Amino acid sequence: MRKPIIAGNWKMNLTAKEAIAFVEEVKNKIPSNDAVDSVIGAPALFLYPMVEAAKGSQLQLAAENCYFENNGAFTGENSPLAIADMGIQYVIIGHSERRDYFHETDEDINKKAKAILANGMTPIICCGESLEQRESGETNDWISGQIKAALEGLTAEQVANLVIAYEPIWAIGTGKSSDAQTANETCGVVRATVEELYGKEVAESVRIQYGGSVKPENIKEYMAEENIDGALVGGASLQPASYLALLDAV
Ligand code: 13P
Repeated sequence: MRKPIIAGNWKMNLTAKEAIAFVEEVKNKIPSNDAVDSVIGAPALFLYPMVEAAKGSQLQLAAENCYFENNGAFTGENSPLAIADMGIQYVIIGHSERRDYFHETDEDINKKAKAILANGMTPIICCGESLEQRESGETNDWISGQIKAALEGLTAEQVANLVIAYEPIWAIGTGKSSDAQTANETCGVVRATVEELYGKEVAESVRIQYGGSVKPENIKEYMAEENIDGALVGGASLQPASYLALLDAV
């Protein structure tokens, strides 16, 4: 049985004050971590005060990116060592916005995954196809290629414990979500790729999220699908009531 993981991805939204107010409002209403992992991915700028505000609660936090070196002359980057040292458990990597706008490559994502794991955190590795790729029938090969590149050189034990988020690019922030059956089929491609590389046991253990216009009204449809173990949620994770409603639906 895979434990569900619902993660907000705030992207570049909210201020430090708004983030702390959010944590204060939700922190005593988060379900037990035994039942569901409840995560918020927030800008690195205010992760530390969020960690402090969330102390003693079941809310877990994620960075939205990191660099693949622990320290050095890399102006403006965020160290995975420093992120882990704050008590952060997850780092989102390979989001399509980072791939498209900041030219993050498969190789960068693989290096970041290794650095995150080396620092004792869990990567949430994103993959997803464009509308053109979906319409021209390239989705499965594309997704499988992204997964193979991201996991290159990782051990079976590391892969068994990580999280992969399948986010079709055309469904992100558009209000146009993939229907649950199609999302499940493509999450199945992710799982089959892990099985091809690491065997059935690892494939059965890795957690796969769907992301793209998930909201409290539709999350149940996704969670009912066999290959979907959670959601990575942008817009609908920004308001406390909506975030709590997502967790309640699991
Ligand atoms: P939306 O939920 O706003 O569509 O964003 C999805 C996403 O990109 C989460 O990483």
